[in-house]
Amino acid sequence: MSAAEKEFENSIRPREIMDFSGQDQIIENLKVFIKAAKMRDEALDHILFHGPPGLGKTTLSRIVANELGVNIRETSGPVIEKPGDLAGLLTNLEERDVLFVDEIHRLSTVVEEYLYSAMEDYRIDIMIDSGPNARSVQINLHPFTLVGATTRSGLLTAPLLSRFGIKSRLEYYTAEVLQRILWRAAGLLGTKITSDAAMEIARRSRGTPRIANGLLRRVRDFAQVMGNGTIDLGIAQFSLKALSVDEYGLDEMDNRILSTIIDNFKGGPVGITTIATAVGEEPGTLEEVYEPFLIQEGFIKRTPRGREVTEKAYTHLGRNPNSRGSN
Ligand code: ATP
Repeated sequence: MSAAEKEFENSIRPREIMDFSGQDQIIENLKVFIKAAKMRDEALDHILFHGPPGLGKTTLSRIVANELGVNIRETSGPVIEKPGDLAGLLTNLEERDVLFVDEIHRLSTVVEEYLYSAMEDYRIDIMIDSGPNARSVQINLHPFTLVGATTRSGLLTAPLLSRFGIKSRLEYYTAEVLQRILWRAAGLLGTKITSDAAMEIARRSRGTPRIANGLLRRVRDFAQVMGNGTIDLGIAQFSLKALSVDEYGLDEMDNRILSTIIDNFKGGPVGITTIATAVGEEPGTLEEVYEPFLIQEGFIKRTPRGREVTEKAYTHLGRNPNSRGSN
C-alpha cells in the first residue's frame, strides 16, 4: 500500500466504537469485556482478531485502546526480531496499555516463547551477556493487553492461542453494512454519493471495507473529472467498468482459483493443496484468505472429496457447465 493510500485509510478510519459498522456480535461482546475490565480496574484480557485482510482488525484494536482510555503501541510479528526487541516494547508499556502485534503468526519461535510469560504473569526473563557471564534477569511488567491480529490463525501454535482470553473471527461485511461505511467515508471526504451508487460499490467490494473505501477513492476521481463531483449510479457503474471491477467483486486470485478448478480439474472435486500448487499460492492462504468468500458467495462448495465449483462459477466466467468432464 502506498503512503498516500495509508494516509487516506487513516483519515477515514473510525476511532470511536459507535462509528464502527458491522461485526455486531464482536462489538457487543467487546463492550461487555471492556466495561467489566474497567469496573475491576484490571487490564483487559488478551485479544486475538483473526480473519481475511482489510476487515478492520487494526481499526478494532485502536478502538479497544480508545475505549479503555489507554495508549496503544503498534508493531508486527516480523519486526520483533529478537527477545530484546520484545523486552523493549513491553517495558515501555504503561499500566493497562495495549500492545498491538499485527501478523502475529510471523513471530519467531524464540520471541514467541518469551511472550508466554509476559502474557501470563506480566514478567519476562531475559538472558543478558553470554558465555560464563550469562545470567537471566527477571523483569516485571505493568499489566497490559496484547492484541494480536492475523489472517492466518491456522499458523498459530497451541500455546500462543491458549493465552488469548478473547478470540474473535471477523466476518465479511454485507453489502448493506458496506453501503453505510461508504456513506460515512464519503461524508468525511466531503463527496456526495447517492444511495444506489453506494450500494453498487458496496456489492462489488468483496465484503471488505478496505476495498470499498479504495474504490470510493477512485470513483470520486471519475465523478470529479467526468461529472459534477457527485457520485451517482451512472458514474459508479462507468467507473467500476473502467477499473475492471468484477460484477461480484471477485479479485484476480478469486477468478484464477475458479477458472483453474474448471479448466484443469473439470470443475472438481479437487483437493486444496492441488489447487494451491496450480495457482501458485500456499494452501493455508487459499483456505483462510480466499476460500471463505468464494464459499460464502456460493461459487465453491466443500465436499468430502475436495472443492467443487458451482453453476454460479461457470455462469460468472461465461463457461458452459454442461461441458464439465468433456475436456
Ligand atoms: P490487514 O489485516 O490487511 O491489515 P485490517 O483487518 O487490519 O487489515 P483495517 O486496516 O482495520 O483492516 O481496515 C481497513 C480499512 O477499512 C480502514 O480504512 C478502515 O477505516 C476501514 N474499515 C474497516 N472496518 C471498518 C468498519 N467496520 N467500519 C468502517 N470502516 C472500516
